[in-house]
Amino acid sequence: MTITLPSGKTVRPGKLLCIGRNYVAHVREMGDVSDLPTEPLTFLKPSTALIPSGGTVILPRQSNDVHHELELVVVIGEGGKHISEEDALNHVAGYALGIDVTARDLQAQSKAAKGPWSIAKGFDTFAPLGPITPREKVDDTQALTIELKVNAETRQFGSTANMIFPVAKLVSFLSSVFTLEEGDLIYTGTPEGVGPVRDGDVLEATGTGLQPLLLNVAAESQLAISQA
Ligand code: MG
Repeated sequence: MTITLPSGKTVRPGKLLCIGRNYVAHVREMGDVSDLPTEPLTFLKPSTALIPSGGTVILPRQSNDVHHELELVVVIGEGGKHISEEDALNHVAGYALGIDVTARDLQAQSKAAKGPWSIAKGFDTFAPLGPITPREKVDDTQALTIELKVNAETRQFGSTANMIFPVAKLVSFLSSVFTLEEGDLIYTGTPEGVGPVRDGDVLEATGTGLQPLLLNVAAESQLAISQA
């Protein structure tokens, strides 16, 4: 999938950098409260997981417990390495709503085996991304409320004020490891209220000053049958 940056340029995101455990209340609901991070817990998703607003999240056959994680997504504009926190927001092109779709049962298996989360987090369609709002139109990145409704019922409601590591810190930290490039995406972690999505669900994410993200959910087998 390509994305259109506020500059009008179209790019295919090279990296989807994702942050885990960035809201204390979510760490608690996962039972991981002894694991509050001292630096951003970072994992990656493949760009093949991206779908736009209006798309369909496909529930893979390998999982029986796929969860929604509503997140603010940072879209990198000007790339760089070793970016300072003070300069970090100058490297942001804009912001969007995203869902870090997670096969919770597969993630639990990986955690138990002390293995990576690549499969639990990386299936096709597991990285929905809404339209991008230019940075200049977002007053305070750390004062945004974000909300996710499933079938018109609120499931997640949070404020970016509660991030353990704010956006500027994330950009700076990630750029100390990875060269950030134009179009790279940072999924900044989820507030509490994560839960399962099921075949036929309709998801609507909204946020302060951000464009909404609308999604459908379908089971892989059902889709295969309907396309046969
Ligand atoms: Mg997440």
